[in-house]
Amino acid sequence: MNYLSRRCRSIQPYIAGEQPQDKKYVKLNTNECPYPPSPEVEKTLKEFDAGRLRRYPDPENAKLVATIAARHGVNAENVFVGNGSDEVLCMCFPAFFDENDGIAYADVTYSFYKVWAHMYGVNSVKIPLDDEFKLVPEDYVGIKGVKGIMICNPNAPTGMPLGRLDLLRIVESNPDKIVIVDEAYGEFASCSVANRVNDYPNLLVVKTLSKAYALAGARCGYALGNKSLIDGLKAVKNSMNSYTVNALTEAIAIAALSDKKYYAGVVDKINAEREETADALRELDFEVLPSSSNFIFARHKKLSGSEIYFSLKENGVLVRHFKGERISDFVRITIGTREEMKTLLAEVKKIVKNRN
Ligand code: PMP
Repeated sequence: MNYLSRRCRSIQPYIAGEQPQDKKYVKLNTNECPYPPSPEVEKTLKEFDAGRLRRYPDPENAKLVATIAARHGVNAENVFVGNGSDEVLCMCFPAFFDENDGIAYADVTYSFYKVWAHMYGVNSVKIPLDDEFKLVPEDYVGIKGVKGIMICNPNAPTGMPLGRLDLLRIVESNPDKIVIVDEAYGEFASCSVANRVNDYPNLLVVKTLSKAYALAGARCGYALGNKSLIDGLKAVKNSMNSYTVNALTEAIAIAALSDKKYYAGVVDKINAEREETADALRELDFEVLPSSSNFIFARHKKLSGSEIYFSLKENGVLVRHFKGERISDFVRITIGTREEMKTLLAEVKKIVKNRN
């Protein structure tokens, strides 16, 4: 007897990056922040009254929603919060798509989109990036045959941004379609359209505190959009779980968002380290895509992606390798601290030397 639903039997789950518990790696595989969260977060954690955990959290997370709204200059009715942006993005599928509707997204992008589409019976329409892994805006302008569009900006795993004007051109030319912009890495770039959600009723911007805010373990993400889109997400959420953001996460997320200055410093350090690492890799015969994120996507002229991945892992450095058609030659490397990047480059040098 198979007790699983037909849907469950057919799903192809996403495979998250390794979180090894056995040995200590220089961990550059899941785009986590190499620096700790703001001191305000630590202070909030220390002062948090454990007694508060007896109670359920505020199902509306009103304080967090107000903080996010103030940060982006929108109203509370324009904000939806969730347990990481993966949860928010997942809820977009039942909120905005019916079975057999189409969703357009790039052939090389965050691989979770196809998993959610499949789970909700939504048809994926994959639009190839060009030969340089750039998104071609014209491919999406006035696009036919889909209910909505998902754009990861900057894109993952390439790290490459689509300019604001190109993105808004896509939004403007598709007034009958929802355009979801996943800005998980938006803080590292200058292509955010978060402040334009009130201008376009079909624009939903999804963001996270997991990357630039160094809170991947706390699980907090959010969406910004027109009230009717946000109400749709709330209806889905309240049909699944009333308390997606727990009380402790709510408190530390508010603390993090209050410390703009600290995080601006974090982003500057990571961006500077990224440029230095990319230059050093280019000198070692890597092609490095121009990234505006906290990671780089690179391939070597002679070494295969899996060779680099396995050799680095053996020597205690974890990066990410994807087996996808156009990208299996590449590895994705998260930008760590200066020390971590030094170790990475030393190990890469050894691998390249052994091969020559
Ligand atoms: N979008 C993209 C493009 C990502 O790379 C990630 C992290 N894997 C997420 C969304 C989800 O991040 P989180 O759930 O931690 O907010």
